[in-house]
Amino acid sequence: MIKKLFLLLIIGCQLPTANCQLAHNFKQHITFLASDSLHGRMTGSKDETNSALYIEGEFLKNTGLPAMNGKYKGGNYRQPFTYNVKVHGHGEEKGKISGQNVAAFIDNHSNQTVIIGAHFDHLGMGDSSHSAYRGEPAVHNGADDNASGVAMVLELAKQIKQSSFKNNNYVFVLFSGEELGLYGSKWFAEHMKYDSTSINFMLNFDMVGRMDSNKLVVGGVGTSPAWNEAIKNISSPLHLKTTESGVGPSDHTSFYLKSIPVLHFFTGQHKDYHKPSDDESKINYAGMEETFNYIMKLIERLDAKGKISFVKTKDDTNENTPKFTVTLGVMPDYTYDGEGMRIDGITDGKPASKAELKTGDVVIQLGEVKVTDMTTYMKALSQLKKGDSTKVKVKRGSETIEHDIHF
Ligand SMILES: [Zn+2]
Repeated sequence: MIKKLFLLLIIGCQLPTANCQLAHNFKQHITFLASDSLHGRMTGSKDETNSALYIEGEFLKNTGLPAMNGKYKGGNYRQPFTYNVKVHGHGEEKGKISGQNVAAFIDNHSNQTVIIGAHFDHLGMGDSSHSAYRGEPAVHNGADDNASGVAMVLELAKQIKQSSFKNNNYVFVLFSGEELGLYGSKWFAEHMKYDSTSINFMLNFDMVGRMDSNKLVVGGVGTSPAWNEAIKNISSPLHLKTTESGVGPSDHTSFYLKSIPVLHFFTGQHKDYHKPSDDESKINYAGMEETFNYIMKLIERLDAKGKISFVKTKDDTNENTPKFTVTLGVMPDYTYDGEGMRIDGITDGKPASKAELKTGDVVIQLGEVKVTDMTTYMKALSQLKKGDSTKVKVKRGSETIEHDIHF
């Protein structure tokens, strides 16, 4: 027993971080979830169930946290959900998405509850249009996306349980169905037996394993007047880059749409995004530890603050607002801070896909308008109408490419 423990500590301490045990735990979670034997944790697969069982086991054995106990339909850790959806692929067909979230709960008998979440599903063998890889089917390991977020939530759960933070109840939830369209978080937000006004706020961790130059992107700071002050002046080596909108390409959106203040934490895009090469060996554990330390301080500060209020953000990055009569059919990368608008995803059959634009392309000109950021991109789009034909100029790697585009 002692020998085993000693070995554990030795392995942990080989990681270049200050808190050996924490880094060791992160590594254990990510190594398991991102292993080839889980085949990319596709929603609805047996690999999803095995991932959910691992998370449930962590809550049961290591964290000692109870399940939701009647706060949701069913008293289990695992919460099944089903949606009938249109499946995009060759033609459009109806399909069923079934998956399961995993949730645990700290009941401090407070009137307000904090939700801390991350998605655990990923892209399986990459056969959906969400994969950015075009080779033979291969395991999309999803170490950063989003085994890193799961590891963060599991360790936060453990630490918060042992903490003196007693002014909020805390829900820890790992979602499935995120990659297919935020289905798990949507289900969760719709089936909470809480009144949504009793939810204090929601923190979402999606891709927090690849920190570079201490940069942490914090999305959703416009969703409560309390955020700006709360996230600043916390002693930390991190450089925060903030964005306002409560709508973004991850699970916090489902809670924002229920008028709940949200924050999304993200360490940035990389070339392995949605590819089989998103591997455990590329995780920055020292960076994860910095994020963890920062979040613990933030949660401590917020625990003393009472209920924070919600505000709707100007979703001027949402191309579906009525001032636009056309769409490009892309998911913009809301966190890209270079020149132009970087494409994070492309919808089949829409103008961008017909013009053969690709995920990762950076739009620098659309029609007459030079696109330098999201605002100028929106301006460009608002000047176009159905039936227009024009040109779109993109940067793809070091190349600049121009295509005809029809709306
Ligand atoms: Zn993803």
